[in-house]
Amino acid sequence: MTAVIRQPIGRFAPSPTGPLHFGSLVTALASFLNIKARGGLWLVRMEDLDPPREVPGAQSEILTQLAAHGLVSDRVVLKQSESIERYEAALQRLIDQAQIYACDCPRKRFVSHYPGYCRDRGLALESVHQHALRFRIQAPRISLKDGHLGNHVWHPNENLGDFIVKRRDQLIAYQLAVVVDDIYQGVTEVVRGADLLDSTPYQLALYQALSEPPPQFWHFPVVLGSDGSKLSKQTGAPAVEDHQAIQNLNRALEFLGQATLNSQDIPSLLESAITAWDPRRVPRLLGRT
Ligand code: GLU
Repeated sequence: MTAVIRQPIGRFAPSPTGPLHFGSLVTALASFLNIKARGGLWLVRMEDLDPPREVPGAQSEILTQLAAHGLVSDRVVLKQSESIERYEAALQRLIDQAQIYACDCPRKRFVSHYPGYCRDRGLALESVHQHALRFRIQAPRISLKDGHLGNHVWHPNENLGDFIVKRRDQLIAYQLAVVVDDIYQGVTEVVRGADLLDSTPYQLALYQALSEPPPQFWHFPVVLGSDGSKLSKQTGAPAVEDHQAIQNLNRALEFLGQATLNSQDIPSLLESAITAWDPRRVPRLLGRT
């Protein structure tokens, strides 16, 4: 038997809800270094699937900021808004496998995991104008071997519930879109903030349902602001300044537990950072700036 050797492919997948801030630069850099250290490709994908949350101009601003920091996608930037047909095709496959049911529960009613009220109600999938579509979790447990955080296990009804794949407003949900994209782009490793760890079991369930091998996940610490909450575009974290790219990159390296570098130009700084990259030095806990 010959094993199929997949080319290492990593990605950074920003949502265009505002310009790149220090926290997103850290994620971009970590995903870049982790894949480049293994000679892989690094892709950028625009997660512009939620028009109400999109900030006009943010897409091109993010790409300009990334480029100013030497971070350029090795392939054309995929936009989720142009990939709807692929998501619908995957959704249809799941429907054909009886993995999906319609749900009219008000979303606000559930603080954490959905207890499956609509599972056996048999609401028509076609009357989706008012209904969300949910994926039925059937696995007794879902486990993850995270590259950074180690082993995690989730159990239905304890810390896992049936989840939405198509929203009541007819938008494809993040969980489905991200998995379909990562499969389509041949992504072999996903480096992202630990705030997304809770999404991972849902995504693993989708990989299984779509008969695809999941990528290696690495959940790294997120950058916290002085008030202890995650830096975020929506709460107005300041944009990284392109004219300070070298300092920004060095600050990001420091946050990631790596040595800072003396290079005078960005390409040589990144080159040295790739050579020196050691993911075991990335701290485990959430870190403040
Ligand atoms: N678009 C998501 C975000 O900006 C990231 C998705 C992912 O890395 O899986 O938070």
